Amino acid sequence: MPALLTVQRIALGRRTLSLLSNNPFKWISANMSSSSSGGKRLRVLVDMDGVLADFEGGFLKKYRAKYPDEPYITLEDRRGFWVSSQYGQLRSDLCEKAISIWESKDFFIELDPLPGGLGAVKEMAKMENTDVFLCTSPIKHYHHCPYEKYAWVERHLGPDFLDHVILTTDKTVVAADLLIDDRPDIVGVETGPVWEHVLFTACHNKHQALSPDQRRLLSWADDWRAILDSKRQ
Ligand SMILES: [Mg+2]
Repeated sequence: MPALLTVQRIALGRRTLSLLSNNPFKWISANMSSSSSGGKRLRVLVDMDGVLADFEGGFLKKYRAKYPDEPYITLEDRRGFWVSSQYGQLRSDLCEKAISIWESKDFFIELDPLPGGLGAVKEMAKMENTDVFLCTSPIKHYHHCPYEKYAWVERHLGPDFLDHVILTTDKTVVAADLLIDDRPDIVGVETGPVWEHVLFTACHNKHQALSPDQRRLLSWADDWRAILDSKRQ
């Protein structure tokens, strides 16, 4: 490594090191634009299921196809993050039937993109001083889900985005400025995660009251750019 870069890495610390190791050209241009615009560099985590990919719609379609004679819950009547819990309340054996849907092959890869999400993420990734990662929790039944999440990203956002996928069951240990996620209660081993959680509105959370310090993104037609700008201040 050239001596100049070594000195810069030591001087600018861990964050620069990770940027530099991923893409030195992006680091150099980002560092120059940062100094010219004066804006704070922003790291944004975007959830996949219920934010970019239509988990609820895909689930209901496949559930009804597989179990046409069983009762179901319309999207309008969905309450609570866990689909399987609400189906279990409807009738106890429906919990397992619901789980069988997203444990099936091709469930995650065949989810439709939610309106505006792909365009928003692509635009976000091109913004100056902005790093965007797709931060998603795979299900424990790992036979299909992790592979299909990567395949979904490649199919809809292109292979370059594969470097921006974070699979984790605990989002609290990931450091960022923002987390856009439809799950209301995001907890983990880190009790004070550094990101601000912006709740992405979904059928299951739209009736839920927010805590005073929490913000919503109603959809990708809502002003997500203003939320990012507010974190650069
Ligand atoms: Mg989600």
